[in-house]
Amino acid sequence: MSDPKDLPNIRSVRVGKTGEGSMHPEHRYGSRLPLMLWVLFSRRWIDGVPVHFFAIEHRDGLVLFDTGLDPAIGSNPRKYLGSALGEFFLYRLFRWEIGPEDNVSDQLSGMGHDVGSVRKVVFSHLHFDHTGCIDHLLHAQLLAPRREWQALIKPKAERDWYFRQHVDLPGANWNLFEMEPCDDPDIAPFGSCFDVMGDRSIVLLPTPGHTAGSVSMLLHSAGMPPILLISDLAFELDMLLSDRLPGVGEDFDAMLDSYARVRALKERLPELVILPSHDMQTSARLAGAMRKQVHL
Ligand SMILES: [Zn+2]
Repeated sequence: MSDPKDLPNIRSVRVGKTGEGSMHPEHRYGSRLPLMLWVLFSRRWIDGVPVHFFAIEHRDGLVLFDTGLDPAIGSNPRKYLGSALGEFFLYRLFRWEIGPEDNVSDQLSGMGHDVGSVRKVVFSHLHFDHTGCIDHLLHAQLLAPRREWQALIKPKAERDWYFRQHVDLPGANWNLFEMEPCDDPDIAPFGSCFDVMGDRSIVLLPTPGHTAGSVSMLLHSAGMPPILLISDLAFELDMLLSDRLPGVGEDFDAMLDSYARVRALKERLPELVILPSHDMQTSARLAGAMRKQVHL
């Protein structure tokens, strides 16, 4: 197989934003306080937290990495989440500024893409802020880590912010994937990978921590720097670089291991641009990376 670094298979990488939120600093940066204490009583908020998704224009079609929020959660959270308790905890953890236009279709239109041209959607994990508006994408192939699907369908999954009623939709073309052996020395420390387009330009890597099944997406194409979309492995890049843990996460040991693997990848690929989904700097960093793109 050709080395993807020699092929200009990715034409553009864009970021979409489905609204902004506020979260507690104890949530984002960790805290010595017990979880329930800050969840119930923290009065401090960090504003301007973006909820991003990504659109990758590949030679063989448009690929999304996550779909962000559904505006319905902003207009009627109790109905969207299905319970008053869910609404209560949602408001203890997040405040949203999300308008009707903050949905995947309108955001894609703003980039010049038609939602109808989306060929594949890869989900980093299946939390509600990454799986909005799947009903706009019933024509596309939807790809999720099998382990995330197991988390979605388990009893009381809503307690962990998985909402099956908005994900497991009739007519949706879900494809569950598992990681496979990988022979690329750059990503060998991850142990396995999943090649989305069959040309190594869009490769998924296991990066557990935030959730057990979470994956990151490595983009590799001639004419642009390599990009790693890490979703919620870290809320901010600096946290990953400095081994800082957030206030919530399924497995902090796994998270630190994933941080270390990403840093090792950055050592092998010094130009690597690492983009978390809720980092205020992600949009500017991606713009900077794409300014370096040479159209071949
Ligand atoms: Zn998230």
